[in-house]
Amino acid sequence: MTRIEPTTHKKAFKYRLYPTPPQRRDLERTLSLCRQLYNAALQERREAYKKAGQAVGFYEQKRHLPQVRAELPEYKGVHSQVLQNVIERVDLAFKGFFRRVKAGQKAGYPRFKGQGRYDSFTFPQAGTTGVKLQERGKRVLIHGVGSVKLKLHRPLEGRLKTATLKREGDDWYIVFVCETEPNPLPENRAAIGIDLGTNPHFLITSEGELVEAPRYFQKAQAKLATAQRDLARKKRGSRRRKQARRRVAKLHRKIANQRKDFHHKLARRLVNRYGTVVHEDLGLARSRTAKGVQDAGWAAFLQTLAYKAEEAGRRVVGVDPKHTSQDCPVCGHRERRPLWVREYTCPQCDTRQHRDVAAATNILARARTEPAGMGTAWAVP
Ligand SMILES: [Zn+2]
Repeated sequence: MTRIEPTTHKKAFKYRLYPTPPQRRDLERTLSLCRQLYNAALQERREAYKKAGQAVGFYEQKRHLPQVRAELPEYKGVHSQVLQNVIERVDLAFKGFFRRVKAGQKAGYPRFKGQGRYDSFTFPQAGTTGVKLQERGKRVLIHGVGSVKLKLHRPLEGRLKTATLKREGDDWYIVFVCETEPNPLPENRAAIGIDLGTNPHFLITSEGELVEAPRYFQKAQAKLATAQRDLARKKRGSRRRKQARRRVAKLHRKIANQRKDFHHKLARRLVNRYGTVVHEDLGLARSRTAKGVQDAGWAAFLQTLAYKAEEAGRRVVGVDPKHTSQDCPVCGHRERRPLWVREYTCPQCDTRQHRDVAAATNILARARTEPAGMGTAWAVP
């Protein structure tokens, strides 16, 4: 069995912030100043490019920053590295533009950022300057803003590299990017198959575990449906419609965050317990319209799972799921059944099992028999 040695990873940790009203104003003001600087730097580069077809460079613009801070006192309260990062963002936008031009692609010229189109600022060397966690992660000290309460729902790991303050609707978040060492878990020869489930089950394992999406997540989804109906009833252009739209957007963000968190925890649990996780390959899973509703969520989950497995030196294998929901996991008898039949009863050997547990068992077995055609060297004990 070959082991893939993982390299250093960059890992992002996103936490909700709870700023006081004055802190919120400071965050908003910093964001607004960064946006103005971005637009000014963009303007300068556009003009230089138009005039002479030449580029004002990143370093040249960076050199002007102390001057900006000297002449415009409002910029004094913003950390110099945050401002440098703004210049870097302009530089990246231009680099992307030139790359697309060179490749002969349709290249949109870098655009000015309107209000609401610029929603974050970054401390590029957060490990050494600009932000600092306090009180064992209950608060974070942010340069120019002060000590802000945060919810550290999972621990930070690795070496802190950057911290980005991000506005999503009315909420603020901090995203820490850390560099983590490869962290292989001890060798584990246990393997499990998972079947991606239908409501209310998110997935079902070959060991008979039925994993449901957390209740709070289902509740939030029900709330979203109500909010969407509510929005549809509001008159176009009205203030109430605007409010309803904000509520829908907020719920969308909340659900996206909860989903991510659920995926992380579930993937972590599987990777901790099993050396190998076998799932149906979504690319090979055709005609699964009955299950199609959740497809987007699964793809994201499988990505998280693959990432965590690689980091831990564990294995994730996708197999062709054809017939896995029709075959008897014990004797191999094949029979098509309507999807609403939840219990698998084999007429040949009298095996009785939950349909999806049977499918998960078949998925696991397939990894044992199928040649390593999925880009993974593969052997099950
Ligand atoms: Zn059977």
